[in-house]
This record gives sequence, structure tokens and C-alpha cells, in this order.
Amino acid sequence: MKRDLYETLGVAKTADEKELKSAFRKLAMKYHPDKNPGDAEAEKTFKEISLAYEVLKDPQKRAAYDRYGHAAFEQGGMGNGGAGMGGAAGGFSDIFEDIFGEMMGGGRQRRSSGGRERGADLRYNMEISLEEAYSGKTAQIRVPTSITCDVCTGSGAKPGTKPTTCATCQGSGRVRAAQGFFSIERTCPTCHGRGQIIADPCVKCHGQGRITEERSLSVNIPAGIEDGTRIRLSGEGEAGLRGGPAGDLYIFLSVKPHEFYQRDGADLYCSVPISMTTAALGGKFDVATLDGTKSRVSVPEGTQAGKQFRLKGKGMPVLRSSQVGDLYIQIQIETPQKLTKRQRELLKEFEELSSKENNPESAGFFSRMKDFFDIE
Ligand SMILES: [Zn+2]
Ligand SMILES: [Zn+2]
Repeated sequence: MKRDLYETLGVAKTADEKELKSAFRKLAMKYHPDKNPGDAEAEKTFKEISLAYEVLKDPQKRAAYDRYGHAAFEQGGMGNGGAGMGGAAGGFSDIFEDIFGEMMGGGRQRRSSGGRERGADLRYNMEISLEEAYSGKTAQIRVPTSITCDVCTGSGAKPGTKPTTCATCQGSGRVRAAQGFFSIERTCPTCHGRGQIIADPCVKCHGQGRITEERSLSVNIPAGIEDGTRIRLSGEGEAGLRGGPAGDLYIFLSVKPHEFYQRDGADLYCSVPISMTTAALGGKFDVATLDGTKSRVSVPEGTQAGKQFRLKGKGMPVLRSSQVGDLYIQIQIETPQKLTKRQRELLKEFEELSSKENNPESAGFFSRMKDFFDIE
């Protein structure tokens, strides 16, 4: 007694195309012979679900099955062998390509007639300085890449000869082999999937249709570019195989850490240490900026550590815009070290003369803390 096809797939009789496909997909993943090597039971189940799906996905076959049941496909049942299931040599691999081809992104799209293949994408890592990111630049890079062979213009065949269609696969690049009940599609062993045989290969490229060379490319790095940016140069990747389209070249940009500036988007930060006396008495200093000029920073009397001064428009340019970020100067105060006897005396004297108004934060801190925690 044969199992009901809907039951086999675990779907309702009213299941639509999508439900059928998804039910088949799930079961096929589970019972696929590749996942269950040597398991005869799994293979049998896989066979059943494949058959069920083969019938139900086809509206005509499905209608016949709904009407006549399995009898519709038994010898003579339909009269027309075209609708039959037995010995349908070509059928199954087609389902697999339908289902698994799209699921796994299949190698199929890469192939086209004549064994043409899209060239690989290339990656080029480029490191630039913050100054270069600031002003932008045109970089000359040398890319080792394969390009279309000039002798055979990419055909791979010796000039004057032509590639011939592979007799084993008739040019499809794939052959079907029976494996038990199934027919499995494989890459053609004669032409290795190209679909063509090159009897007289081009001497320069040995039949590949492309040769490896170093090319010089000019790359425009726009001002304001950020670390981690990827620039795509369409068609500048590896040449295609046997006349296929070229891949793309991707430039992965990294911006070197800067000695003095840290970057946050379009803003720059610079930590500047000043002496304790400059912080107390006030003073001035100059900072060099990325535009090649310098900016004067005035530190007022009584400047505290962590104080920030903003230099407007002295940051990084914003990519493809006229905006410019700011530069923030962050003040650090350096406590004097290795004091001489005289310096020590002066500081002691200074300390004796100090009042709460000189150091409102530190003078009040411990008494506020004591009060807060209610300790002695
Ligand atoms: Zn060639
Ligand atoms: Zn072949």
C-alpha cells in the first residue's frame, strides 16, 4: 500500500505551492543521503518525499493524483508516459537544482555558455595617515591581477583555432550519473565544467584566457574619509575566465592612529599637558592643526584639569560636504616632580598662605564626605 503523497510531505490536501515547497525543503534537508550516509531507511524516505513533491508541485500531475490516486501514474494509467514517475531519469536532479540551487546560492550563476566565468573580486588594504584623510589624495596602487589574454583575446584557444563543444556534456558543463534510484548531476569530468574543449591551447595563457600581471591604478581618496571605509572599483578586479566579466576591486582603508590627535567622526581631540603654574597663573600655547597652520589657545587663570577648549572648524572635513568638525583641546595638569630644596621651600610657604578660596574643591571635599557618611 503506497502512502498518500500529501501525508508523505506532511501537508494538507489544500496546501499551496509555497507550503509544499517549504515542507519538502525541511524533509529533504533531514533525509538527504549526504546527511545520512549508509542509512537505507533515510534513503527510502528521501525517495518518497522527492516523488511526492515531484508530483504535487506540478499542477497537472497533482490534479491527476487527486482524481485517480497512485493509479494515475501506474503503467498505462495516464496513457502518456510524460506524466509518469517511474524511471523519470531527468526529473530529480532538476528538483534539486530548483530547491537546493537557490538555497545554497548554487555554483550555477557563475557559469554561463562557453565556460565564461566572472573574475574574482580583489581586496586591497590601504593605510593612510590622518593628514591624508584630512586633505584627501590620489593614490597610485599596484594590483597583481589577472587580465584578459591579449594573444587569444580571452578564448584560451591558439589564434586561428576555436574551442569546440565538449562531446561528453554537449556544452552544458554538467553530466548526470545514475546513483541507485537517483540521477545526480556532476561537473563534467572531460571539460571540468567549461562545456568546451580547447584542443590547441593559447601558448601565452595555457588555455586559461587570462594572464597575471601587475597593473597600476589611480585611486581617489576623498577628504574626510573614515577608518574602515571600503571603496569599490567596479570591474577593476580579476579578469573573467574565457571572456567573462571582470570582478570588482575593493579598497579597504584604514587610517593610522595619530601621534597627537584622536578622531571621533569629524571632531578631533588633543590632550595637552600644561604645568601647574601655567594652570594657576594662566598662559598661552600654540597647537599645530591639520590644515598646516597653528592655533593659539589662551588658558585663563585657575584652569582645572579636564577643561576643554573648542577650536571651531579645526577638525576633519565631513565626507562629500562643506562641513568641518571641531578640534577639542583637553587640558591635563602636570604636577611638578624632582623639586629642588628651594622649590620645596617656596611651595611649603605657598601652602601655608593658602586659603579655602584657593582650593574650594579639595578643601571642602573630606568634610563633605564625612558629613555624608556620618563618620568621625
Ligand atoms: Zn591566451
Ligand atoms: Zn564537458
